[in-house]
Order: sequence, then C-alpha cells, then structure tokens
Amino acid sequence: MMRQIRIGDVTIDSIIERAGPWRAPEAMFPDCDLQVARQHLADMDDFVFDPQSGKMMITYQTFLLRTPHHTILVDTCTGEDKNYPAPMDFPKQPWLDGFARLGIGLDDIDYVFCTHLHIDHCGWNTRLVNGRWVPTFPKAKYIFHKREYDFWEAATGRGEAPPGEVWRMNCLPVVEAGQALLVEDDFALDDLITLTPTPGHSPCHCCINIRSAGQRAVVTGDLMHHPLQCREPDWSTIFCWDPAMAARSRRAFLSSVADTDTMLLPIHFASPTAGHVAADGSRFRYKFLK
Ligand SMILES: [Zn+2]
Repeated sequence: MMRQIRIGDVTIDSIIERAGPWRAPEAMFPDCDLQVARQHLADMDDFVFDPQSGKMMITYQTFLLRTPHHTILVDTCTGEDKNYPAPMDFPKQPWLDGFARLGIGLDDIDYVFCTHLHIDHCGWNTRLVNGRWVPTFPKAKYIFHKREYDFWEAATGRGEAPPGEVWRMNCLPVVEAGQALLVEDDFALDDLITLTPTPGHSPCHCCINIRSAGQRAVVTGDLMHHPLQCREPDWSTIFCWDPAMAARSRRAFLSSVADTDTMLLPIHFASPTAGHVAADGSRFRYKFLK
C-alpha cells in the first residue's frame, strides 16, 4: 500500500477500491507491440505486471489530501449501487474501510476534485438514498471542469455515454444540489491546489497540482494508466477520446516533470503508486517511491 506522503504542509493518502491484474497491454493500447511491451516489462518492478495472466496490474483509488485548511478528495472510483456491468462491479467495502482507516467521515470532506468524468473517477460522488442520487459528501463542494461537464451532458443527451448513465448518476445530482463548482483551466482553490490541463483522454482532463513549502506533487488522473506509457508515451488507450491529443499531453507533461523533484500520483498505477519521472532519450522511466 502507498504510505502517507507529505508535501510541505499537505499529507496525501490513498484509498483503494480495487487492485490486481486487469487488462493485457495489447488489449489496452491499440498501438502496442507485444514484443516491445515484453522487453519494457522485463526491466520494470515486478508488481506492475502479472506474468501468469499476461495482464497489467491496475489499481482504482482515491487520494485524500489534508492541507492546513481543507480535507480534499481527488477522484472517487466507481462507487456503489450504480449497477455497472462486470467487471466494473467492484465490491465497495474496501473503499469504505479505507475511509474509516484514515479516521475521516463523509462529512469531513470540504472539496472533491474529479480529474475527468469517466465512470471510475466520479462514482462515489453520489449515493442512492431512498431511490434518489444524492451527494455522498454533504458539506463538500465538487470541482468539475465546466467544458468536461458540458461534454458529458451533451453526450448523455444524445444517448452516447455508456456504460450506464454516469453523468446522470454521478454529476447532475451534485449540480442540482448546489454543491458543484464548474471551473475553467486556470482554477486555483488557493496557493496549494491548482489545475494543469492535460486534454485528450477526455475533452478537459486535468491534473491536480499540490504545492507547499517549495515541493510539488501532481495527481495525474488518467494521463497514463501504466508505467509502460512512460517508456512508450505515444501509446494511448482504447478509452481515450482523442488518442493523438492524449499522447501529446502525456509527452508534454512528462517532459515538464522529468528529472525534477515533482512527485506523481497516477490513479491507476499499482501500489506504491507515487514516483518520479526520469528522462531517457525520447522516452521516460517511472521510478516508484518505495
Ligand atoms: Zn480511469
């Protein structure tokens, strides 16, 4: 499990919903050359790949940030009662237990950020209470990128947002409850928490920056799903809205943090998740913090 990270005055913890072998690289990345992937994987930490199944290890997790002023969640996994089809119907107790383990209650949360509005990043935004979807965190403001929200609203209106009704269940009820802040690229919560736009995986995917006492960490959402994408930054996923744009965002971001002290927190990287990026010619290397 990822140990607690401290960035200046901010602590960061992980709350895991689901971890383990998930998808084969060739099923995740349309541009994947399996020989090339195998060569890279042979060089990587053994916890990133399950040779028996041929699948990458993929985690679904939420990050809890505690600043001197606020208690913040970044991304909220798949949630409960959404009736998502297998294999997205993860058991819910691990996430709830993780929340309790960190000594916080649902009404302790001041802000919820979503890097983007896919099924596995906004699920716990709402819970089903007496047949209605209501915000899970009663005192929280939820930060959604305005154009990301608009995009999924329009897609849902056209019947184009499978699986299920992610926007209708996880996003609209938050807006209707008056708890959403629909923001632009340059949104800053305060001196500590800001956004970096990294579009492509979804229309307005954003990374969340944490800066304190001269240190920086970045929750990178789905900018990448697996360390293989540091070795092969051009490999976008089958889930990317604009794969070429996603690859450009990934390469630009990785270049900007390579060989710096900036700590990355990629939502889907296996524990211990957090790490740094090193440049290696036109590629990059992910160095897990162990
Ligand atoms: Zn995801």
